[in-house]
Amino acid sequence: MVRRSVDARKKPDVRIIYTVDVSVDGNEKKILKSCGSKRTTIAPNAYYKAPKAKVPVTERPVVVGFGPAGMFAALILALAGCKPVVLERGEDADTRNKKVKHFFETGELDENSNVQFGEGGAGTFSDGKLNTGVNNPRIGWVLEQFVKAGAREDILYDAKPHIGTDVLLDVVQNLRKRIQALGGEVRFRSQVTGIQVENGHLSALEINSTEILPCRDVVFAIGHSARDTFSMLLDAGVPMESKPFSMGVRIEHPQSMIDKSQYGSCDLPLPPADYKLVCHLDNRTVYTFCMCPGGYVVAAASEDGRVVTNGMSLADRNGENANAAVLVTVNPEDFPYEGVLGGMHWQRELEQRAYAVSGCYKAPAQLVGDFLGCRPSTGPGSVQPSYKPGVTWCDLHDVLPEVITDALAEALPKLDRNLAGFSDADAVLTGPETRSSSPVRILRGENRQSTVGGFYPCGEGAGYAGGIMSAALDGIQTAEMLIQEMENRYGQ
Ligand SMILES: Cc1cc2nc3c(=O)[nH]c(=O)nc-3n(C[C@H](O)[C@H](O)[C@H](O)COP(=O)(O)OP(=O)(O)OC[C@H]3O[C@@H](n4cnc5c(N)ncnc54)[C@H](O)[C@@H]3O)c2cc1C
Repeated sequence: MVRRSVDARKKPDVRIIYTVDVSVDGNEKKILKSCGSKRTTIAPNAYYKAPKAKVPVTERPVVVGFGPAGMFAALILALAGCKPVVLERGEDADTRNKKVKHFFETGELDENSNVQFGEGGAGTFSDGKLNTGVNNPRIGWVLEQFVKAGAREDILYDAKPHIGTDVLLDVVQNLRKRIQALGGEVRFRSQVTGIQVENGHLSALEINSTEILPCRDVVFAIGHSARDTFSMLLDAGVPMESKPFSMGVRIEHPQSMIDKSQYGSCDLPLPPADYKLVCHLDNRTVYTFCMCPGGYVVAAASEDGRVVTNGMSLADRNGENANAAVLVTVNPEDFPYEGVLGGMHWQRELEQRAYAVSGCYKAPAQLVGDFLGCRPSTGPGSVQPSYKPGVTWCDLHDVLPEVITDALAEALPKLDRNLAGFSDADAVLTGPETRSSSPVRILRGENRQSTVGGFYPCGEGAGYAGGIMSAALDGIQTAEMLIQEMENRYGQ
């Protein structure tokens, strides 16, 4: 099987479409000819081969951050024989899982071990969707590495592959063990708190404000939530700029309602349905993002006193509800704060306002009917919110700025035209969803280095990826460039 997808365009006549490789007895040309106009030719997938360093590497490269970008950069460097050192501020996935569960149950947050930070990065407590809009020969290779590390084989052929948090927790640990077996070193609870630059080139990293690690080549894959690290890098003179991003809320519906809308009354054993909606308003776009079929809205805070939402699913996607972010695009001209980190300060302000609603990590929530009617909600309707440690019913207009609430109010009824029931009065809005992408870009040149030599900004936080797969691809391509650079240096 090469590919499996669901075609629900003519619901309830839903088809599961399989693309398969076959061997034929007899004359292949004749068989193809007999297919007439129904014949389609499929090019075989281009095969990617991870590079091997052609010269011995004496100075070990460093990777900061062990999310998808850092993890795949480290894997490529390890496979090439470069024995990378990985520095990750969070904890290993098992310890992190306990901390995250504790936070969901008690509201006690560990600022370095949470849904954003720790082994596997922001992608670990996720739905583990692996789609990407880009076409890159490395995609098949990345999927194979996930399967080698314990993901189900169906990600190799499903049109919309996903892994699920329960499986990802093992997958990321197995990827780490593979890097270690190849001579790499992974250090948890190791936050980079400073950089040293000599003659325009990186010379050392400061770890946990105490240790100095001399190094020449560093892949910086810190994700979009490392706000203290963004500030530190800006102060150290690393060039960066502010960029547009999106903010909004999570919306929750019964999964059965989404299935009915997408599949009609079809009784095939189909996977829980997903959706992707977009609405272009006069000066901005409202769209759904990171849809989690049968999933849960999660508390994705990484800073004390700030509330932020996101979504995750388990491998079987068997939760009662479906959820997705409903996001509004915002541009640097909208930011109420000046400077490169203006977007980041705005995110912080909204997360702080959300915390203030309850004085704890319960997220502000409102029913769609009440939101559109501009009245506070006092409790749930037919949909029970899945967010832990619980929600506080309120009016989201008190939390989110007008630029977002106005766009959501205009777009929700319009989105309902494409997915019946989307703006149902009982659907639940929980927020704020502030961290869908990075509010900054750390600049890099053609050689993937900053103007600070040896500094390779990479992944989502640096503004070059959005999602697990694209972050992994950026990590791989950055590591390839670094290997080439080291070969040039050591080969001379
Ligand atoms: C709950 C949730 C669900 C998601 N679901 C999906 C999904 O289904 N599909 C999808 O494609 N995307 C999803 N995403 C987005 C996806 O996780 C990110 O796009 C992806 O993880 C970005 O990868 P990255 O490696 O660039 O950064 P990250 O994954 O954010 O990793 C960065 C790492 O760097 C570490 N770090 C930060 N600063 C420092 C420092 N100073 N020193 C040392 N270490 C540091 C952090 O602890 C972190 O582990 C989800 C995100 C969240 C939060």
